[in-house]
Amino acid sequence: MFAPMKSPASAEKDRKSPDQRPDFSPDFRHVKSWIFDLDNTLYCAGNGIFAQIESRMTDYLAAFLKLPRDCARVRQKELYRQYGTTLNGLMREHACDAEDYLSFVHDIDLGALGPDSALSAALAALPGKRFVFTNGCRDHAQRILDRLDLAHLFDAVWDIRTIGFAPKPQASAYDAVVAASGVNPSESAMFEDIARNLVPARALGMTTVWLKTDAPWGNHGPLMDVSAGDIDHETENLTQFLQNIRI
Ligand SMILES: [Mg+2]
Repeated sequence: MFAPMKSPASAEKDRKSPDQRPDFSPDFRHVKSWIFDLDNTLYCAGNGIFAQIESRMTDYLAAFLKLPRDCARVRQKELYRQYGTTLNGLMREHACDAEDYLSFVHDIDLGALGPDSALSAALAALPGKRFVFTNGCRDHAQRILDRLDLAHLFDAVWDIRTIGFAPKPQASAYDAVVAASGVNPSESAMFEDIARNLVPARALGMTTVWLKTDAPWGNHGPLMDVSAGDIDHETENLTQFLQNIRI
């Protein structure tokens, strides 16, 4: 016999305010800057949004490199593993026009996304500034944030143009956003679904949180190894995690 699920109102009543959270909750009281990846981090990986982008990437490669679609998919993954993003590989090896690629791959249906009031409340409770740090483009980020009704909660979006098209996990990407924003890494926390993207953040002194996934993209590729020390915390539910940390 399963216990009955709590109603949203009941769950809301049980939620602890920050000063009621127990001592064993993850301690984020040092954090003043909250840095979030976008895709598969601020929305759930299971809703098919990023799958659409990946499919559009394959379509783009097939047309751009004049390959059958299955060969284009293989090439897409090779470039991703070697260069951090498929776009970076296309730019470095095939002189791809970045803006053309970005507008094509992000032309997707966002109908599966709607306002996320629980995440919105959890984000709003965080003290300090909030940022989006994405290897995608600003227009895509803005559309996602608008659909989730989260846009008003963020102080800035750092996109692939902000980091000179040198994507996470390249160290230069992190140096660029720290220099541009003035955030203190030791007073920052970064949330990401791709574990290898947390390694440079941890090296700078940020507190790192992995949105744990069994999907292939969550595991580290050959660009760098991820050790236990690179990941301070892991969770499968961003909203619940934020609701339970000490702030
Ligand atoms: Mg992501």
